[in-house]
Amino acid sequence: MGQATRTTKLPLDLSQRTQGGANTDKRAFLDATVQVLNAARAFYVNFFLAHAEKLSERVSYYSEKHLEMRERAISANELLTWAEFHTVETKEHPHPWPAWNFNERFPDMPFAYRRSVIKDAIGKVRAYLSNRSTWEQTGKQKGKPGLPGASNHPSLYQGTIELSVGEAEQHERFVRLKVYTGACWTWVNYPVHSSCYFERRHSEAGWEQQSPKLVLRNKTAELHFAQTKAIRANKVKESKADPHLVTVAVDLNVKNLAVITVRQDGKIIETVFVTDHGLDAHRYRHLKRIAKKQWLSGKPVAGEHSNQQLWQHVRRMNEDAAHKVARSIANVCAKYPGSVLLFERLRKIKATGGSKSRRMNRRQANQLRGKINRYSKDKAYAVGTVSVEVNPHGTSQYCSRCGARGERFSNLRGKRITAKWGKLFCCPVCHYEANADYNASANVHHSFYHEWHWQPRKKAPAKAAASG
Ligand SMILES: [Zn+2]
Repeated sequence: MGQATRTTKLPLDLSQRTQGGANTDKRAFLDATVQVLNAARAFYVNFFLAHAEKLSERVSYYSEKHLEMRERAISANELLTWAEFHTVETKEHPHPWPAWNFNERFPDMPFAYRRSVIKDAIGKVRAYLSNRSTWEQTGKQKGKPGLPGASNHPSLYQGTIELSVGEAEQHERFVRLKVYTGACWTWVNYPVHSSCYFERRHSEAGWEQQSPKLVLRNKTAELHFAQTKAIRANKVKESKADPHLVTVAVDLNVKNLAVITVRQDGKIIETVFVTDHGLDAHRYRHLKRIAKKQWLSGKPVAGEHSNQQLWQHVRRMNEDAAHKVARSIANVCAKYPGSVLLFERLRKIKATGGSKSRRMNRRQANQLRGKINRYSKDKAYAVGTVSVEVNPHGTSQYCSRCGARGERFSNLRGKRITAKWGKLFCCPVCHYEANADYNASANVHHSFYHEWHWQPRKKAPAKAAASG
């Protein structure tokens, strides 16, 4: 039993008031809220750092399963209760520790916000303490972990957010947030850019809602709704025992972003080509402009102002393409319940040689393939498909039909040119000819089943490793 997670974003409308957006005051409230919550988180981070011994406390409890008293580490909820007991003044415990009086520092903060920052602080301090003890064990001088920071996107627990979707008209939907005005805490309505896409995902059966987060950026504000779904999937070892197992193999490339082949009983039963629709060339043109600007200005400044929008555009294109390709891969997996998704361990396309813009473009292509890989794993898991990484050795060089070493070629103006970058693959032994990316994708199945020369080797020859 596992868990799939996904995030759906709901942007707040921060456009001009006249165009239906939130006014500037409301925008300032969001900033103030994030700031005061960061300060409150810092308060508890310091509090737990000052009482670090409490976090490693062992608690004894009675185990129903073993019928005896046992010990375990103190839980986050117990730490939360303990922290509130000593920092928050109530009727039951009217005397918090004088140096740690939370109510004095942050009067009237809603308890849901207080709890969320305490939980955040516990996580941060725990991670820091465990990193520090690992570092101490290594005995090295360098690499001492820094103290945990306090900034985070606020979690909106129940009692700080009210969202009603599906009731009002599409263009007049609001979310009610409990925000800090700089003087007090109050409920404020914010217009949102709701869509049928958001509503469908938000209310989809089987997905459990987590508390949303408020992600405030320079010019935008979004609510990030995390959802989780319990997934029942077989272990790969069990699946492999099934003689009629369906395997879905993916070969990630530059022009053919993904070539998906589905195999059952030794036969390829479906093939899907996902091309980039000119993304690579499009991105290259933009990167050429960026490179030229950098050259003109004399120094390649990272995040240079004049190029920021171009970079953002390139990043967005990549992000969008990655999600779309991953969705097509997951859709194929969903057609074959119980299938296993196969990826090659990613090889890097070397980003050396060629012009500067070409190198930048190759780096972007590498990032895109990494993204497709990650997103498809997540999306496939949500439909119950487990993914496996297989050894990429030789997938693009060997014949997927007979296993002999072949070569790549291209037809240029009617002439056959043998080259490593060739689009087609041909086998000198069985004279099989196919699209090179398709051949590679079909080989991924062989690698998974350790067929032919894909036996685990002791030492890979250097040449094969270099040319992949
Ligand atoms: Zn062959």
